[in-house]
Amino acid sequence: MKCCACGAEKCDLVYHYPAPAITSLSTILEVDTRVYICSACGHMQSADLPDVQKFYDTEYQISLTSEDADQLYDVVDGVPVYRTQYQAGLILDFVDLPKGAAVLDYGAAKAKSLFRLRERRPDISPHVFDVSEDYRSYWQEWVPKEQQSTYSAPAGWNGRFDLITAHFVLEHVREPVEIFSDIARLLSPTGRFFFSVPDVLGNPADMIVVDHLNHFTQTSLPVALDRAGMKIERIDTSRLRGAFVVVAVFKEVGEKAALSAPAEVDLQIQSLKKCCDAWHAAEKFVADAQSGSAGKKVAIYGAGVYGTFVYARIRNNGGAVCFVDRNPHVHGRDHLGVPVVPPEALSSDIGILYVALNPAIARKAMADLGLDQRKGLELVYLS
Ligand SMILES: [Zn+2]
Repeated sequence: MKCCACGAEKCDLVYHYPAPAITSLSTILEVDTRVYICSACGHMQSADLPDVQKFYDTEYQISLTSEDADQLYDVVDGVPVYRTQYQAGLILDFVDLPKGAAVLDYGAAKAKSLFRLRERRPDISPHVFDVSEDYRSYWQEWVPKEQQSTYSAPAGWNGRFDLITAHFVLEHVREPVEIFSDIARLLSPTGRFFFSVPDVLGNPADMIVVDHLNHFTQTSLPVALDRAGMKIERIDTSRLRGAFVVVAVFKEVGEKAALSAPAEVDLQIQSLKKCCDAWHAAEKFVADAQSGSAGKKVAIYGAGVYGTFVYARIRNNGGAVCFVDRNPHVHGRDHLGVPVVPPEALSSDIGILYVALNPAIARKAMADLGLDQRKGLELVYLS
C-alpha cells in the first residue's frame, strides 16, 4: 500500500481484525480493520472504506440530528464549554487575524466553529466549503450565498483567504496531499492554514475507527504539508485533548523542507506499534472474559467508540443487557439496540461490567463511582 503522506510504497500491515469494524460515530460496519505504518515517514493509515465518497455524502451526518448534539468539550466552573466554542478560541490564540479577514472553513459541515469565531470577530468575511449538500440550511442565515460552495471550491476563490480552517477533516480523506494542495490554491500568499487532526498516541481509539483513513504523526505531518509547498509554523499537542493543532504557512521560495531524522521516524514507529499491541491485548481481555462469563448478565461501561468495540466483539455471545454512560444526552436512548442507563441505574444482577473507556482513565473512573468495590460485580478492563 502506498503512503498517502510521503508517497513511498513502504507501508507495512501492522494490525488486522476481521469484520465487524467500528466507525468514529460509534456505529458498526461489516468490513475488516486493517492498519498500516509507513517505514519511510512514520505515517499510519487505514484501508479504504468500500465506498468512501458515498459514506460522506449521505451517511456521515455528524451532529445533524439535534442542535444540542454539539459535543461537550469541558465544564469550567460549572459552565459547559462546547467543542466548537473551544475551537474558535484556539484559532484566535494561534492566529493573528487581520481586520476584515477572508476566512474559509474547509470541510465545514455545520460550520459551527466559524459561526462562533464570527461571534467574537464580527469583522471577518465567512466562507464555507463541504463535499456534501446536507449542511446548506445551517449556512443560509449567516453566510452569503456566493460565499458557500459544495463539492469543489470555485477558481474565483484562488489565493483569496487570510485564514483557512479544517477541523477534524484530514483524517477522513484518502489523499490528504491533494487536500493540502487545494488549500494552498485557495490560501493568500501570507495566509494561515489552521487545522486539527487526531493524535493516535494521545487517543488510541483513533487507530481502530475505520473511517479515519489517516493517523497523522509528528513525523508524517511535515512531509505531507511539504508536498503541497507548505510548512508547519506551530504544532501543539496539549491544547486540544487527543489531537494535534497545527498552523501551516507557505514555504519561502527555495526553502528546504524541515523533515524528521530517520532516528525520529523509527521512534515514532515504535510508539505506533505499541498502540497496535495494546489493541490486540484489549481483544484478548474481552475474549478471555467471555469464556468465563457463561450465565452472567453483562453490561458495558461507555457508549462511545470503546463501548462499541466491546459490543461488536461480544454480540454473538449473548451481547450486553445495557450500556452505562455518564453523559445525560444519551440516557434513555438506545445504542446499537441496547438501552443506555446512568451509572446509578446499573442493576444489581449484572455480573460482568466491561470498562470500555480510554485505558488511561478507566480505573480511576470506576474507583470514583465506587464500582470497583461493588460485591458480585466483576470489572473487565481493556488494559
Ligand atoms: Zn510515508
